[in-house]
Amino acid sequence: NGKRVVIVGGGIGGATAAQYLKKMDSTIDVTIVEYNKDYYTCFMSNEVIGGNRDIESIHFTYEKLAAKGIKVVYDTVTDIDAKGQVVKTKGGKSLAYDRCIVSPGVDYKWEAIEGFTPEVAATTIPHAWKAGPQTKLLRKQLEEMKDGGTVVVVAPPNPFRCPPGPYERVSQIAAYLKENKPKSKIVVLDPKKKFSKFGLFMDGWKRHYGYGTDNSMITWINSENGGTVSAVDVASKTVTAAAGKFKGDVVNIIPPQKAGSIAFKAGLTNDSGWCPIDHKTFESTIHKNIHVVGDSSVAAPMPKSGYAANSQAKVCAAAVASLLNGTTMIEPSWVNTCYSVIAPGQDGISVAMVYKYEGGKIVKVKGSGGLTGAYDPELRKREVLYAHSWFENITADTFG
Ligand code: FAD
Repeated sequence: NGKRVVIVGGGIGGATAAQYLKKMDSTIDVTIVEYNKDYYTCFMSNEVIGGNRDIESIHFTYEKLAAKGIKVVYDTVTDIDAKGQVVKTKGGKSLAYDRCIVSPGVDYKWEAIEGFTPEVAATTIPHAWKAGPQTKLLRKQLEEMKDGGTVVVVAPPNPFRCPPGPYERVSQIAAYLKENKPKSKIVVLDPKKKFSKFGLFMDGWKRHYGYGTDNSMITWINSENGGTVSAVDVASKTVTAAAGKFKGDVVNIIPPQKAGSIAFKAGLTNDSGWCPIDHKTFESTIHKNIHVVGDSSVAAPMPKSGYAANSQAKVCAAAVASLLNGTTMIEPSWVNTCYSVIAPGQDGISVAMVYKYEGGKIVKVKGSGGLTGAYDPELRKREVLYAHSWFENITADTFG
């Protein structure tokens, strides 16, 4: 019918785009190609690592999407023929499209840290930056660690998936250790000077984990103090940073990131390692009829977050439905909130923003959004509840 859409990747961006395309025009033929039958959300995976949540609670499948008439193909996309408008899979399928939406998430710059390989991450030093087996591995290592052990967390350079994520993880690990192994320490090695929600995290770490005192559970070493990591010795779990060598009992390296590998294969990336797009339609500025949403796209000032991917996917679905039907595209707007729980049940924080389209670009709406205010115990407890209700809502919207 001239309305075939093939979606590459059934994560937050891809699954949302599929659902909203069907909602906007049920006659569009929507196919998702995804290699995992089981999707584990990265959001709330830090609570699994901290021991406050079961991994099953972040597990989602594609049955509900299939029941709505979305075709789900479990396969790996190996190439996209932009000229011929065909998506090719490892299983030998050729899926013709009128419009293609690509949302493959992130891939890792494995060459950046000597000794750190996909095999090492899967077995010994997890990155756990894609939720699933590595989330469980990191949790198990923390459980098995002795009291008085050291956890080394290596943070990535900008831009990366989930700007507050590494620091939320450090908070969750600190909460677990404080309760169960209070003699333990966490060393964070960071190639940046500062990070998202910096003041709020620092304040929270002081309140809960003795940050800034001689007895702090957390030591944070930034780029100015030699926090940039270049290598790891896997056998001794020793990380080499500019400031020297750091040996951990548990080591979590979150490597530098780039667009999902299929975006490179399909020629959708530029020198930045991410995919440039038209900010109104999310159509690639390199290849016509292919749209890119989520972490892989260059959509700054929006962050690389799940909420942003979900919001972008809705705008992209509206654009694709309009383009397929020859109707006028709505004036888009976007939203994002990133919650972080610093102390379970007690201390949540957030950063929020609304965006609009102006002068050919996504821009922040002045006066919208903002950060959690000064410490108020009641408000902070409520932020934890908001974080969990956000999780219920976004997952129902994406997979439900
Ligand atoms: P993904 O959700 O990763 O989806 C990509 C999908 O594509 C995957 O399912 C993958 O299997 C599939 N895929 C890739 N290549 C292929 C291929 N060649 N063939 C077939 N399938 C393919 N965001 C928030 O908004 N709030 C939070 O609180 C939050 N917390 C986070 C905490 C952590 C620890 C982490 C790591 C991330 C967090 N995020 C959070 C970020 C969020 O998870 C991502 O931004 C979001 O998942 C991006 O969606 P996406 O569609 O771009 O990628």
